[in-house]
Amino acid sequence: MFLRDRLELRILPSQSRGRLWLALSEFAAGRAETARVGGAEGVAVAAGELMSNDGLTSTQAGADDRPTLDRLTLAVSNSCNLRCSYCYAQTGRYYSKKGLLMSRDVMHVALDRAARSYSRIEHVNFFGGEPTLNVEVIDSACAHVGDLYERGELLYRPSFGTATNGYALSPTVLGLLQRHNFSVTLSLDGPREIHDAKRRTPAGRGTYDAVAANAHRLLRMGLAVEFECTYTNEHLRRGMSIVDLMDFFHSEFGCGTLHCQIVSAAPSSSEFVPLPAGVRLLGDAIDASLANLATGTRKTISLAVRMLRSLSSGVPIRNYCPAGRREITVNADGGVYACFMLMQTREHSLGSVVNAPGGQDGKVNRTQGAAASLVHQEILLQDKYTNPACQRCWAQPLCYGCLGADLELMEGRIVRSGTPGQSILCDLKRDLVEGFLRSVEKAERLAA
Ligand code: SF4
Ligand code: SF4
Repeated sequence: MFLRDRLELRILPSQSRGRLWLALSEFAAGRAETARVGGAEGVAVAAGELMSNDGLTSTQAGADDRPTLDRLTLAVSNSCNLRCSYCYAQTGRYYSKKGLLMSRDVMHVALDRAARSYSRIEHVNFFGGEPTLNVEVIDSACAHVGDLYERGELLYRPSFGTATNGYALSPTVLGLLQRHNFSVTLSLDGPREIHDAKRRTPAGRGTYDAVAANAHRLLRMGLAVEFECTYTNEHLRRGMSIVDLMDFFHSEFGCGTLHCQIVSAAPSSSEFVPLPAGVRLLGDAIDASLANLATGTRKTISLAVRMLRSLSSGVPIRNYCPAGRREITVNADGGVYACFMLMQTREHSLGSVVNAPGGQDGKVNRTQGAAASLVHQEILLQDKYTNPACQRCWAQPLCYGCLGADLELMEGRIVRSGTPGQSILCDLKRDLVEGFLRSVEKAERLAA
Protein backbone atom coordinates (compact mmCIF):
# COMPACT_ATOMS: atom_id res chain seq x y z
CA MET A 1 0.00 0.00 0.00
CA PHE A 2 1.29 3.45 -0.90
CA LEU A 3 0.05 6.60 0.80
CA ARG A 4 0.20 9.90 -0.97
CA ASP A 5 -1.49 12.79 0.78
CA ARG A 6 -5.15 11.83 0.66
CA LEU A 7 -4.78 9.53 -2.31
CA GLU A 8 -4.52 5.90 -1.35
CA LEU A 9 -3.57 3.25 -3.87
CA ARG A 10 -4.09 -0.28 -2.64
CA ILE A 11 -1.98 -2.55 -4.76
CA LEU A 12 -0.47 -5.99 -4.69
CA PRO A 13 -2.43 -7.79 -1.99
CA SER A 14 -0.13 -10.54 -0.82
CA GLN A 15 -2.52 -13.32 -1.93
CA SER A 16 -2.78 -11.87 -5.45
CA ARG A 17 -1.45 -14.32 -8.02
CA GLY A 18 -2.96 -12.89 -11.18
CA ARG A 19 -1.68 -13.28 -14.69
CA LEU A 20 0.36 -10.15 -14.31
CA TRP A 21 2.55 -11.78 -11.69
CA LEU A 22 2.80 -15.01 -13.63
CA ALA A 23 3.94 -13.02 -16.63
CA LEU A 24 6.39 -11.17 -14.43
CA SER A 25 7.82 -14.37 -12.94
CA GLU A 26 8.30 -15.82 -16.39
CA PHE A 27 9.96 -12.64 -17.45
CA ALA A 28 12.20 -12.64 -14.42
CA ALA A 29 13.12 -16.28 -14.99
CA GLY A 30 14.32 -15.44 -18.47
CA ARG A 31 16.67 -12.72 -17.37
CA ALA A 32 18.67 -12.94 -14.17
CA GLU A 33 18.83 -9.87 -11.99
CA THR A 34 22.16 -9.16 -10.38
CA ALA A 35 20.84 -6.83 -7.73
CA ARG A 36 23.19 -6.99 -4.78
CA VAL A 37 22.91 -4.63 -1.90
CA GLY A 38 25.52 -5.92 0.51
CA GLY A 39 28.42 -3.55 0.97
CA ALA A 40 27.06 -0.95 -1.42
CA GLU A 41 28.06 2.01 0.70
CA GLY A 42 31.63 0.84 0.73
CA VAL A 43 32.11 0.96 -3.02
CA ALA A 44 33.15 4.56 -3.48
CA VAL A 45 35.37 4.22 -0.46
CA ALA A 46 36.98 1.15 -1.96
CA ALA A 47 37.57 3.16 -5.12
CA GLY A 48 40.00 5.16 -3.01
CA GLU A 49 41.76 1.91 -2.25
CA LEU A 50 41.57 0.88 -5.87
CA MET A 51 43.69 3.87 -6.79
CA SER A 52 46.12 3.92 -3.89
CA ASN A 53 45.34 1.33 -1.23
CA ASP A 54 45.44 4.17 1.25
CA GLY A 55 42.41 3.13 3.30
CA LEU A 56 40.85 6.60 3.11
CA THR A 57 38.16 5.58 5.50
CA SER A 58 36.58 2.44 6.84
CA THR A 59 34.62 0.20 4.49
CA GLN A 60 31.41 -1.68 4.91
CA ALA A 61 31.85 -5.42 4.88
CA GLY A 62 31.00 -7.57 1.88
CA ALA A 63 31.56 -11.35 1.86
CA ASP A 64 34.72 -10.78 3.92
CA ASP A 65 35.86 -7.41 5.26
CA ARG A 66 35.74 -5.76 1.84
CA PRO A 67 32.75 -4.32 -0.02
CA THR A 68 31.30 -5.86 -3.15
CA LEU A 69 30.97 -4.27 -6.57
CA ASP A 70 28.10 -4.86 -9.01
CA ARG A 71 29.96 -3.52 -12.03
CA LEU A 72 33.54 -2.62 -12.77
CA THR A 73 33.66 -0.67 -16.02
CA LEU A 74 36.91 -0.48 -17.96
CA ALA A 75 36.71 2.34 -20.52
CA VAL A 76 39.23 0.62 -22.78
CA SER A 77 38.85 3.12 -25.61
CA ASN A 78 38.60 6.91 -25.61
CA SER A 79 38.15 6.76 -29.32
CA CYS A 80 35.19 6.06 -31.56
CA ASN A 81 34.43 5.18 -35.15
CA LEU A 82 31.14 7.15 -35.13
CA ARG A 83 30.19 10.81 -34.74
CA CYS A 84 26.74 10.78 -33.13
CA SER A 85 25.28 14.28 -32.97
CA TYR A 86 24.19 13.95 -29.32
CA CYS A 87 27.31 12.20 -27.98
CA TYR A 88 27.77 13.17 -24.32
CA ALA A 89 31.40 12.00 -24.43
CA GLN A 90 32.92 14.32 -27.06
CA THR A 91 32.82 11.50 -29.64
CA GLY A 92 34.16 9.08 -27.08
CA ARG A 93 37.22 11.12 -26.09
CA TYR A 94 35.83 12.50 -22.84
CA TYR A 95 38.43 14.90 -21.45
CA SER A 96 41.36 13.56 -23.46
CA LYS A 97 42.47 15.71 -26.38
CA LYS A 98 42.82 12.81 -28.76
CA GLY A 99 41.56 9.29 -28.81
CA LEU A 100 43.37 7.06 -26.33
CA LEU A 101 43.30 3.29 -25.95
CA MET A 102 43.84 1.62 -22.58
CA SER A 103 47.18 -0.16 -22.45
CA ARG A 104 47.65 -3.70 -21.19
CA ASP A 105 49.58 -2.34 -18.21
CA VAL A 106 46.77 -0.03 -17.11
CA MET A 107 44.24 -2.82 -17.56
CA HIS A 108 46.37 -5.19 -15.45
CA VAL A 109 46.82 -2.69 -12.63
CA ALA A 110 43.11 -1.81 -12.67
CA LEU A 111 42.02 -5.44 -12.43
CA ASP A 112 44.67 -6.34 -9.81
CA ARG A 113 43.63 -3.44 -7.61
CA ALA A 114 39.95 -4.14 -8.06
CA ALA A 115 40.54 -7.79 -7.09
CA ARG A 116 42.29 -6.59 -3.91
CA SER A 117 39.70 -3.93 -3.06
CA TYR A 118 36.46 -5.88 -3.45
CA SER A 119 35.43 -9.23 -2.07
CA ARG A 120 33.22 -9.84 -5.09
CA ILE A 121 32.93 -8.23 -8.53
CA GLU A 122 29.75 -9.30 -10.27
CA HIS A 123 30.39 -7.99 -13.72
CA VAL A 124 33.21 -6.49 -15.78
CA ASN A 125 31.94 -4.12 -18.44
CA PHE A 126 34.05 -2.96 -21.40
CA PHE A 127 33.14 0.53 -22.45
CA GLY A 128 34.25 3.37 -24.70
CA GLY A 129 34.13 5.45 -26.91
CA GLU A 130 33.86 2.30 -28.93
CA PRO A 131 35.39 -0.53 -26.87
CA THR A 132 35.79 -2.96 -29.77
CA LEU A 133 38.52 -0.67 -31.19
CA ASN A 134 40.69 -2.15 -28.43
CA VAL A 135 39.81 -5.80 -28.86
CA GLU A 136 43.31 -7.05 -27.90
CA VAL A 137 43.10 -5.47 -24.47
CA ILE A 138 39.56 -6.80 -23.94
CA ASP A 139 40.81 -10.28 -24.81
CA SER A 140 43.78 -9.94 -22.42
CA ALA A 141 41.50 -8.60 -19.69
CA CYS A 142 39.21 -11.64 -19.96
CA ALA A 143 42.27 -13.90 -19.71
CA HIS A 144 43.62 -11.91 -16.75
CA VAL A 145 40.30 -12.14 -14.91
CA GLY A 146 40.47 -15.91 -15.48
CA ASP A 147 44.02 -15.99 -14.04
CA LEU A 148 43.01 -13.96 -11.00
CA TYR A 149 40.14 -16.36 -10.39
CA GLU A 150 42.32 -19.46 -10.83
CA ARG A 151 44.88 -18.04 -8.38
CA GLY A 152 42.13 -17.35 -5.82
CA GLU A 153 42.66 -13.60 -5.98
CA LEU A 154 39.11 -13.23 -7.24
CA LEU A 155 36.78 -15.40 -5.18
CA TYR A 156 34.03 -15.19 -7.77
CA ARG A 157 34.28 -15.25 -11.55
CA PRO A 158 32.61 -12.10 -12.92
CA SER A 159 30.47 -12.11 -16.03
CA PHE A 160 31.57 -9.98 -19.00
CA GLY A 161 29.67 -7.41 -20.99
CA THR A 162 30.22 -4.56 -23.38
CA ALA A 163 28.34 -1.52 -24.66
CA THR A 164 28.98 -1.09 -28.36
CA ASN A 165 27.68 0.99 -31.23
CA GLY A 166 27.63 -2.28 -33.19
CA TYR A 167 28.89 -0.65 -36.38
CA ALA A 168 32.05 -2.66 -37.12
CA LEU A 169 31.99 -6.00 -35.33
CA SER A 170 34.74 -8.00 -37.00
CA PRO A 171 34.90 -11.82 -36.89
CA THR A 172 37.64 -11.40 -34.23
CA VAL A 173 35.31 -9.31 -32.07
CA LEU A 174 32.35 -11.67 -32.58
CA GLY A 175 34.55 -14.66 -31.70
CA LEU A 176 35.72 -12.97 -28.51
CA LEU A 177 32.16 -12.09 -27.47
CA GLN A 178 31.06 -15.67 -28.01
CA ARG A 179 34.08 -17.27 -26.33
CA HIS A 180 33.51 -15.33 -23.12
CA ASN A 181 29.71 -15.38 -23.30
CA PHE A 182 29.42 -11.59 -23.27
CA SER A 183 26.19 -9.75 -22.71
CA VAL A 184 26.04 -6.99 -25.30
CA THR A 185 24.39 -3.60 -24.97
CA LEU A 186 23.83 -2.35 -28.49
CA SER A 187 23.01 1.28 -29.29
CA LEU A 188 20.27 1.53 -31.88
CA ASP A 189 17.79 4.38 -32.05
CA GLY A 190 14.95 2.74 -33.95
CA PRO A 191 13.98 2.81 -37.64
CA ARG A 192 16.63 3.61 -40.26
CA GLU A 193 15.65 7.21 -41.02
CA ILE A 194 15.66 8.17 -37.34
CA HIS A 195 18.81 6.27 -36.39
CA ASP A 196 20.70 7.57 -39.41
CA ALA A 197 19.78 11.19 -38.69
CA LYS A 198 21.84 11.05 -35.49
CA ARG A 199 24.26 8.14 -35.56
CA ARG A 200 26.68 8.60 -38.45
CA THR A 201 30.21 7.80 -39.47
CA PRO A 202 32.86 10.56 -39.59
CA ALA A 203 32.10 10.78 -43.33
CA GLY A 204 28.43 11.45 -42.51
CA ARG A 205 27.02 8.11 -43.63
CA GLY A 206 24.17 6.44 -41.77
CA THR A 207 24.93 3.29 -39.78
CA TYR A 208 21.55 1.60 -39.41
CA ASP A 209 22.06 -1.19 -41.94
CA ALA A 210 25.41 -2.29 -40.50
CA VAL A 211 24.20 -2.13 -36.89
CA ALA A 212 20.93 -3.97 -37.57
CA ALA A 213 22.81 -6.71 -39.46
CA ASN A 214 25.20 -7.10 -36.52
CA ALA A 215 22.29 -7.17 -34.07
CA HIS A 216 20.81 -10.12 -35.96
CA ARG A 217 24.23 -11.79 -36.01
CA LEU A 218 24.61 -11.46 -32.24
CA LEU A 219 21.10 -12.77 -31.65
CA ARG A 220 21.75 -15.78 -33.91
CA MET A 221 24.89 -16.49 -31.87
CA GLY A 222 22.65 -16.79 -28.81
CA LEU A 223 24.23 -13.86 -26.94
CA ALA A 224 22.18 -11.74 -24.54
CA VAL A 225 21.57 -8.48 -26.39
CA GLU A 226 20.12 -5.42 -24.72
CA PHE A 227 18.99 -2.71 -27.09
CA GLU A 228 19.78 0.76 -25.84
CA CYS A 229 17.70 3.35 -27.62
CA THR A 230 18.23 7.07 -27.10
CA TYR A 231 15.04 9.04 -27.60
CA THR A 232 15.89 12.25 -29.44
CA ASN A 233 14.20 15.29 -30.93
CA GLU A 234 14.25 13.38 -34.24
CA HIS A 235 11.75 10.86 -32.82
CA LEU A 236 9.71 13.76 -31.48
CA ARG A 237 9.79 15.61 -34.80
CA ARG A 238 8.61 12.52 -36.65
CA GLY A 239 5.89 11.75 -34.10
CA MET A 240 7.42 8.46 -33.02
CA SER A 241 6.62 7.60 -29.38
CA ILE A 242 8.46 5.23 -27.05
CA VAL A 243 5.52 2.84 -27.34
CA ASP A 244 6.11 2.84 -31.11
CA LEU A 245 9.77 2.06 -30.43
CA MET A 246 8.81 -0.87 -28.18
CA ASP A 247 6.73 -2.21 -31.08
CA PHE A 248 9.56 -1.65 -33.55
CA PHE A 249 12.24 -3.43 -31.50
CA HIS A 250 9.85 -6.24 -30.62
CA SER A 251 8.90 -6.95 -34.21
CA GLU A 252 12.36 -6.39 -35.74
CA PHE A 253 14.54 -8.05 -33.12
CA GLY A 254 12.20 -9.91 -30.76
CA CYS A 255 13.18 -7.46 -28.01
CA GLY A 256 11.22 -8.09 -24.78
CA THR A 257 12.63 -5.23 -22.74
CA LEU A 258 13.86 -2.09 -24.39
CA HIS A 259 16.24 0.20 -22.56
CA CYS A 260 15.10 3.59 -23.74
CA GLN A 261 16.29 6.83 -22.22
CA ILE A 262 15.65 10.41 -23.17
CA VAL A 263 18.75 12.01 -24.68
CA SER A 264 21.12 13.43 -22.09
CA ALA A 265 21.33 17.10 -23.12
CA ALA A 266 21.15 20.49 -21.44
CA PRO A 267 18.19 22.81 -22.20
CA SER A 268 20.59 25.08 -24.11
CA SER A 269 21.58 22.23 -26.46
CA SER A 270 20.00 21.79 -29.90
CA GLU A 271 19.54 18.12 -28.92
CA PHE A 272 17.34 18.90 -25.91
CA VAL A 273 13.99 17.11 -25.56
CA PRO A 274 11.61 19.11 -23.32
CA LEU A 275 11.23 17.40 -19.94
CA PRO A 276 7.42 17.25 -19.77
CA ALA A 277 7.30 15.62 -23.22
CA GLY A 278 9.91 13.07 -22.16
CA VAL A 279 8.03 12.22 -18.96
CA ARG A 280 4.72 11.89 -20.83
CA LEU A 281 6.30 9.53 -23.36
CA LEU A 282 7.93 7.43 -20.63
CA GLY A 283 4.63 7.33 -18.70
CA ASP A 284 2.78 6.04 -21.78
CA ALA A 285 5.49 3.41 -22.29
CA ILE A 286 5.23 2.27 -18.66
CA ASP A 287 1.47 1.99 -19.03
CA ALA A 288 1.81 -0.04 -22.23
CA SER A 289 4.49 -2.26 -20.65
CA LEU A 290 2.28 -3.22 -17.73
CA ALA A 291 -0.75 -3.76 -19.95
CA ASN A 292 1.38 -6.01 -22.16
CA LEU A 293 2.61 -8.03 -19.20
CA ALA A 294 -0.93 -8.31 -17.87
CA THR A 295 -2.05 -9.81 -21.16
CA GLY A 296 0.91 -12.16 -21.45
CA THR A 297 3.18 -10.25 -23.86
CA ARG A 298 6.76 -9.51 -22.93
CA LYS A 299 7.08 -6.13 -24.61
CA THR A 300 8.26 -3.63 -22.06
CA ILE A 301 10.67 -0.84 -21.22
CA SER A 302 13.31 -1.42 -18.55
CA LEU A 303 12.03 1.48 -16.42
CA ALA A 304 8.67 -0.27 -15.92
CA VAL A 305 10.31 -3.63 -15.24
CA ARG A 306 12.67 -2.14 -12.68
CA MET A 307 9.88 -0.49 -10.72
CA LEU A 308 7.67 -3.56 -11.00
CA ARG A 309 10.41 -5.83 -9.66
CA SER A 310 10.86 -3.54 -6.72
CA LEU A 311 7.13 -3.36 -6.03
CA SER A 312 6.50 -7.09 -6.40
CA SER A 313 9.47 -8.05 -4.24
CA GLY A 314 8.76 -5.39 -1.64
CA VAL A 315 12.40 -4.29 -1.81
CA PRO A 316 12.80 -0.55 -2.48
CA ILE A 317 15.17 0.44 -5.28
CA ARG A 318 18.39 0.70 -3.36
CA ASN A 319 20.03 3.87 -4.61
CA TYR A 320 18.97 6.78 -6.78
CA CYS A 321 21.94 5.98 -9.00
CA PRO A 322 24.56 3.23 -8.73
CA ALA A 323 27.49 5.58 -9.55
CA GLY A 324 30.14 5.20 -6.90
CA ARG A 325 27.81 3.13 -4.74
CA ARG A 326 27.69 -0.12 -6.67
CA GLU A 327 29.71 0.75 -9.74
CA ILE A 328 33.14 2.15 -10.53
CA THR A 329 34.77 3.08 -13.83
CA VAL A 330 38.47 3.08 -14.72
CA ASN A 331 39.20 5.22 -17.76
CA ALA A 332 41.72 4.42 -20.52
CA ASP A 333 44.38 6.59 -18.82
CA GLY A 334 43.89 4.84 -15.47
CA GLY A 335 41.68 7.57 -13.95
CA VAL A 336 39.11 6.21 -11.50
CA TYR A 337 35.56 7.59 -11.66
CA ALA A 338 32.29 6.88 -9.89
CA CYS A 339 30.76 6.30 -13.35
CA PHE A 340 31.56 6.86 -17.02
CA MET A 341 28.71 9.39 -17.01
CA LEU A 342 30.78 11.46 -14.57
CA MET A 343 33.90 11.29 -16.70
CA GLN A 344 33.35 14.54 -18.61
CA THR A 345 36.08 16.35 -16.72
CA ARG A 346 39.01 15.29 -14.57
CA GLU A 347 37.33 17.15 -11.68
CA HIS A 348 35.21 14.12 -10.94
CA SER A 349 38.20 11.82 -10.76
CA LEU A 350 38.65 9.80 -7.60
CA GLY A 351 42.31 9.36 -8.50
CA SER A 352 44.22 7.04 -10.77
CA VAL A 353 45.40 3.45 -10.72
CA VAL A 354 48.65 4.64 -12.32
CA ASN A 355 50.72 7.76 -12.88
CA ALA A 356 49.40 9.84 -10.00
CA PRO A 357 51.89 10.38 -7.17
CA GLY A 358 51.42 7.54 -4.75
CA GLY A 359 49.37 5.62 -7.31
CA GLN A 360 51.79 2.76 -7.79
CA ASP A 361 53.44 2.51 -4.43
CA GLY A 362 50.29 2.56 -2.36
CA LYS A 363 51.06 5.72 -0.37
CA VAL A 364 48.36 8.24 0.50
CA ASN A 365 48.11 11.18 -1.85
CA ARG A 366 46.41 14.16 -0.24
CA THR A 367 45.14 15.71 -3.47
CA GLN A 368 43.57 12.45 -4.54
CA GLY A 369 42.16 11.95 -1.08
CA ALA A 370 40.55 15.40 -1.05
CA ALA A 371 39.11 15.01 -4.55
CA ALA A 372 37.77 11.57 -3.75
CA SER A 373 36.22 12.89 -0.58
CA LEU A 374 34.42 15.67 -2.50
CA VAL A 375 33.05 13.20 -5.02
CA HIS A 376 31.92 10.94 -2.17
CA GLN A 377 30.16 13.94 -0.61
CA GLU A 378 28.42 14.79 -3.87
CA ILE A 379 27.25 11.22 -4.30
CA LEU A 380 26.03 11.08 -0.72
CA LEU A 381 24.26 14.41 -1.15
CA GLN A 382 22.44 13.33 -4.28
CA ASP A 383 21.48 9.83 -3.18
CA LYS A 384 17.93 9.29 -2.04
CA TYR A 385 18.92 7.39 1.10
CA THR A 386 21.25 10.12 2.31
CA ASN A 387 19.60 13.30 0.99
CA PRO A 388 17.29 14.66 3.73
CA ALA A 389 14.75 15.94 1.13
CA CYS A 390 14.26 12.41 -0.14
CA GLN A 391 13.48 11.17 3.37
CA ARG A 392 10.31 13.26 3.30
CA CYS A 393 9.32 12.28 -0.23
CA TRP A 394 6.56 9.71 -0.77
CA ALA A 395 8.17 8.52 -4.04
CA GLN A 396 11.46 7.51 -2.43
CA PRO A 397 11.10 3.68 -2.62
CA LEU A 398 10.64 3.65 -6.39
CA CYS A 399 12.46 6.80 -7.48
CA TYR A 400 15.71 6.35 -9.36
CA GLY A 401 17.70 8.01 -12.11
CA CYS A 402 21.14 8.80 -13.42
CA LEU A 403 23.28 11.31 -11.58
CA GLY A 404 25.37 12.06 -14.67
CA ALA A 405 22.29 12.73 -16.81
CA ASP A 406 20.78 14.90 -14.04
CA LEU A 407 23.95 17.00 -13.84
CA GLU A 408 23.86 17.49 -17.62
CA LEU A 409 20.17 18.35 -17.64
CA MET A 410 20.38 20.72 -14.70
CA GLU A 411 23.64 22.22 -15.98
CA GLY A 412 25.54 21.16 -12.88
CA ARG A 413 23.08 22.17 -10.17
CA ILE A 414 20.70 19.52 -8.89
CA VAL A 415 17.95 20.40 -6.41
CA ARG A 416 16.15 17.58 -4.63
CA SER A 417 12.89 18.38 -2.88
CA GLY A 418 10.06 16.32 -1.43
CA THR A 419 7.80 19.41 -1.68
CA PRO A 420 5.93 19.93 -4.97
CA GLY A 421 6.95 23.00 -6.97
CA GLN A 422 10.49 23.30 -5.63
CA SER A 423 12.36 21.07 -8.06
CA ILE A 424 11.24 20.42 -11.63
CA LEU A 425 13.31 17.23 -11.69
CA CYS A 426 11.68 15.84 -8.55
CA ASP A 427 8.19 16.90 -9.65
CA LEU A 428 8.67 14.97 -12.87
CA LYS A 429 10.14 11.94 -11.07
CA ARG A 430 7.08 11.87 -8.81
CA ASP A 431 4.79 12.15 -11.86
CA LEU A 432 6.51 9.07 -13.28
CA VAL A 433 6.17 7.05 -10.07
CA GLU A 434 2.54 8.09 -9.60
CA GLY A 435 1.80 7.20 -13.23
CA PHE A 436 3.46 3.83 -12.69
CA LEU A 437 1.28 3.09 -9.65
CA ARG A 438 -1.86 3.99 -11.58
CA SER A 439 -0.70 1.75 -14.43
CA VAL A 440 -0.22 -1.14 -11.99
CA GLU A 441 -3.80 -0.71 -10.80
CA LYS A 442 -5.03 -0.70 -14.38
CA ALA A 443 -2.94 -3.76 -15.24
CA GLU A 444 -4.28 -5.62 -12.23
CA ARG A 445 -7.81 -5.00 -13.46
CA LEU A 446 -6.80 -6.19 -16.94
CA ALA A 447 -5.22 -9.36 -15.53
CA ALA A 448 -8.14 -10.18 -13.20
S1 SF4 B 1 28.99 5.63 -30.62
FE1 SF4 B 1 28.88 6.40 -28.51
S2 SF4 B 1 30.93 7.26 -28.06
FE2 SF4 B 1 30.76 7.01 -30.31
S3 SF4 B 1 30.08 9.02 -31.03
FE3 SF4 B 1 28.24 7.72 -30.74
S4 SF4 B 1 27.51 8.19 -28.65
FE4 SF4 B 1 29.67 8.94 -28.83
S1 SF4 C 1 11.57 12.68 -6.33
FE1 SF4 C 1 13.34 13.92 -5.66
S2 SF4 C 1 13.06 14.15 -3.43
FE2 SF4 C 1 11.73 12.46 -4.11
S3 SF4 C 1 12.96 10.59 -3.77
FE3 SF4 C 1 13.25 11.24 -5.93
S4 SF4 C 1 15.12 12.50 -5.89
FE4 SF4 C 1 14.40 12.36 -3.76
